[in-house]
Amino acid sequence: MAKDLECDVLVAGSGASGFAAALTAAIDGLEVIMVEKAEVFGGTTCFSAGVIWIPSSRQAREAGITDDRDSVLDYLQAEAGNRLDRDKAESFTDNAASVLEWFEANSHLSYMLSPAWSDYHPGQPGASKGGRSLGPRPFDGRTLGKWFDKLRPPIKTTTILGGMMVGREDLPQFFTMTKKLSSATHVSKLFLRYAKDRLSYSRGTRLSNGNALIAMLARSAFERGVKLLLKTPMAELTTESGRVSGAVVDAPEGRMTIRARKGVVLACGGFPANDELRARLYEHVAAGKNHQTLAPAENTGDGIKLGRMLNVAVVEGQAQPAAWVPISLVPQPDGTTIPFPHFIDRGKAGYIAVDKRGRRFINEAMSYHDFVPAMVEACRDDLEVHSYLICDTTAIRAYGLGAAPPLPGRLGPHIASGYIKQADTLAALAAQCGIDEQGLSRTVALLNEGAPKGEDPEFGKGTDPYQRFNGSIGHGPNPCVAAIERAPFYAIRLVPGDIGTFIGMRTDAHARALDNAGQPVSGLYVVGNDAASFMGGTYPGAGITLGPALVFGHLAARHIASGG
Ligand SMILES: Cc1cc2nc3c(=O)[nH]c(=O)nc-3n(C[C@H](O)[C@H](O)[C@H](O)COP(=O)(O)OP(=O)(O)OC[C@H]3O[C@@H](n4cnc5c(N)ncnc54)[C@H](O)[C@@H]3O)c2cc1C
Repeated sequence: MAKDLECDVLVAGSGASGFAAALTAAIDGLEVIMVEKAEVFGGTTCFSAGVIWIPSSRQAREAGITDDRDSVLDYLQAEAGNRLDRDKAESFTDNAASVLEWFEANSHLSYMLSPAWSDYHPGQPGASKGGRSLGPRPFDGRTLGKWFDKLRPPIKTTTILGGMMVGREDLPQFFTMTKKLSSATHVSKLFLRYAKDRLSYSRGTRLSNGNALIAMLARSAFERGVKLLLKTPMAELTTESGRVSGAVVDAPEGRMTIRARKGVVLACGGFPANDELRARLYEHVAAGKNHQTLAPAENTGDGIKLGRMLNVAVVEGQAQPAAWVPISLVPQPDGTTIPFPHFIDRGKAGYIAVDKRGRRFINEAMSYHDFVPAMVEACRDDLEVHSYLICDTTAIRAYGLGAAPPLPGRLGPHIASGYIKQADTLAALAAQCGIDEQGLSRTVALLNEGAPKGEDPEFGKGTDPYQRFNGSIGHGPNPCVAAIERAPFYAIRLVPGDIGTFIGMRTDAHARALDNAGQPVSGLYVVGNDAASFMGGTYPGAGITLGPALVFGHLAARHIASGG
């Protein structure tokens, strides 16, 4: 039997939302224990790009970008309609910038603005054409000391040489390294640092993306005395006199109770890895179709199960049950596959996605969350959901395809493994992929006709700032449109995936869990993807889960610290 423990605040889950709550509570002088089910910490957040959607940040103001409360709320309202949780939307909008400033002033958290990163639907009222999405600064993993080995590594297919991280901010240099000396120098420095790291570490220690975010929060939390217990899933909540008083956890030494004097925070990252819930709540899975999550296997909806036992309400009627992304499956030498998320390549010039009839079904530069439902719809009468992303030699050399890198990277291993199909003619490519030859030929002919003028008569690719943000650098007249004409031609198979769930528990503006009658469950808080998306299952812009994860993690801890 393990010895029982006691603390002020008990947090289940070590993703961004859990760490935001734990760190805030610790800075406020509370004694904090975090329990984590996995043998590593950081959850889905460690797989993520670490981008946060924080309107009116200090960084945006300093860059001269003006934004205001009404525009933010108008945009959220336009996106989510009557599914918007207005109380939470207002709480988020009013607190987001100051919470980020607070973290930056009190911890190692450090973010930079990506000024051109437009909201995903810039035509909507209140949308921003750039200034609400911020990315983490690279962080030195060596400063985590012994904890570095326990930080969940990024998804392997998103690294170079199996362990070198590349941040969104590094991508332009990678894409232009054969053309610009400054880019070549930047990239060479990254490779040199990585080579040096590998003499002493199992992977690169220059962390970017979600790994940087978690490392910054974790280092700060450890410095403030937060105790993290790995391989210790929360199994049951305990109550005393009608108030949540702690939990029973399964530690490696055995079952034990952790008493929480002031509050318990559920931050278990939703249910993306729960087969049963996916089969019930994802329409295409309910119809027997294929789906694969990018989230870790441990995110099986434990938080929701724990909350349900205490009658916490679950909001099921979201516009979409999860945050979608098209993925491709990269074959590994041991016969397994690892998913690769297609966030960016679809938007570039000279890439189109077609179904097996050879028809395009969406403007490929639209967001990943919009792309998947269109692909599901295109395959409504088929046994499975898939499409092919297609490009020619000019495009693949400049930007790669999925996990296959641009020049001077090697395509050969990806062709040999069957990940990428290659053919000298479009007809041969269609035959290899099982695509209707005539259909593909018609689609490409239409694209090639408009391409010299930068026009996409079928879907209007490249017609707004978000689409152009992901386009090909310096490619005119439209950075998202180019002809597919130079052999050989290439294709990669896309299937539906997700990066986390939107259905979750009902919470209020302080992140308190609410029961079916709308009353707070005393002593219990829910943050991150365990909480229902207050944006109603829509995806307004880059960072719309991690921004709220930080903000409501912080607000939960503040409410606990102020006496609950
Ligand atoms: C490739 C990719 C890129 C992404 N990029 C972005 C981005 O740039 N911006 C953005 O906003 N979103 C992004 N996302 C989505 C984002 O990562 C998630 O929405 C977010 O990380 C969820 O945070 P969380 O704290 O709720 O959960 P997580 O980070 O998943 O953490 C939950 C933790 O709880 C643990 N846990 C589960 N059950 C228990 C239990 N019973 N007891 C204790 N612990 C438990 C899990 O093991 C896990 O470590 C991306 C996702 C992916 C996969």
